[in-house]
Amino acid sequence: MNIAVLTIGDELLSGELADTNTQRIARQLSPHGYGLRESLSVGDDRGDIEEALAALAARMDVVIVTGGLGPTVDDLTAAAAAHVFGLPLERNDEALSLIRQHFARLGVNMHPRNDKQAMLPRGAALIPNPKGSAPGFSLTRHDAFLFFLPGVPAEMATMLDESVLPALRQRQGGQPPRQEKLFQVFGLSEPRVEELLSRNTLPDGVQLAFGVDFPLVIVKLRSARPDAAELLTRGESQVRQVLGDFVVAAGGQTLAENVARQLTDSGSTLALAESCTGGLISTWLTNLPGASAFLERSAVTYANSAKQDWLQVPEQVLSEQGAVSEACALAMAAGIRGAAGTRLGVAVTGIAGPEGGTAQKPVGTVFIALSAADREEARGYRFHGNREQVRILAACMALDWIRRYLLTRPAAELTAPEEPR
Ligand code: ATP
Repeated sequence: MNIAVLTIGDELLSGELADTNTQRIARQLSPHGYGLRESLSVGDDRGDIEEALAALAARMDVVIVTGGLGPTVDDLTAAAAAHVFGLPLERNDEALSLIRQHFARLGVNMHPRNDKQAMLPRGAALIPNPKGSAPGFSLTRHDAFLFFLPGVPAEMATMLDESVLPALRQRQGGQPPRQEKLFQVFGLSEPRVEELLSRNTLPDGVQLAFGVDFPLVIVKLRSARPDAAELLTRGESQVRQVLGDFVVAAGGQTLAENVARQLTDSGSTLALAESCTGGLISTWLTNLPGASAFLERSAVTYANSAKQDWLQVPEQVLSEQGAVSEACALAMAAGIRGAAGTRLGVAVTGIAGPEGGTAQKPVGTVFIALSAADREEARGYRFHGNREQVRILAACMALDWIRRYLLTRPAAELTAPEEPR
């Protein structure tokens, strides 16, 4: 099935906005076995939108369009689709009623301009929008199936899952063209993962592919055979056997999601003390709904005085070993755990750079510590990369410490991530 994405909006071409919709669509389709053949962005110009729609409808089986369904003058998608496919643009009563219901649910008056969002090409099938005002719609032209979704990423993503994917599956007679299993690997480089996996042959009919979502390596097993589900289950046990605890999450799950789930399932509570990561770990965890079940507090303690005031790091540790040291990390983790009364205290302190490195403690030196009733542990790493990469590596490593602790694996087993490529 040849699938294209067309994103619409001047901001996408002016550099004001990065087109994340195409990436999101590709990521959401991929686990279901659908890949993109092409993607295209055009501005809010009716001629350009019409030209793109005509070209893509002529050579693709499916076109997913995002953007330009709003009530303002620059929202031209429905009018362009009607014109290019020779359909009258007319008021769709069902769409109007959905839009009215949306505003009634919000308890706000509907602006008369929102009526425009109900002007759709004749024959369009509505795609409900559970999160916003603009319903989407679909059309079939020149044997192509066209889906028109709003530009707002969260609205678009929900409609893709709830309406577009089921429609694609139905078109394929319920059988996905290819099945896929994903594994997120942390602590090993891509070539190393490939080398380890190549020592074992995967079942016939299973293809191996790789991706990188820094600093994670994504291992993808794919099969298009009718017995794909069984083949992939066998492939999965092989991947898990070979890569063991370096598989930090599976499916579309992130490392933070997996750690959050482990903390919740085990009824564990966590307190964080972050220095060089500046709250990154707690941001990732609190991005997830339900984080209050396990996260008691998180302190960003940048200055020595903050480490002393909030975490009771002894003056002597700071003056003799410095803020970037194993002893300081341990004192931070124990200090935050003591203050919070949680099962776990985790601390990160390091030099993210580009300034601040010394011969003994170069940029990228990071200490991580974990404090629990049955374990007090700290370790230094030397991460390679720019400031952002060092901070991300440190945050991932701290999450991996929590993950491994909850799996009751000694931190001594931890391997430093290999250098970013
Ligand atoms: P609205 O009813 O909000 O006007 P719409 O369908 O008209 O929805 P646009 O006006 O094109 O959508 O975009 C709305 C917002 O969605 C944009 O301001 C932008 O923040 C976001 N957006 C649009 N397209 C993309 C894209 N390709 N990638 C990421 N974000 C996008």
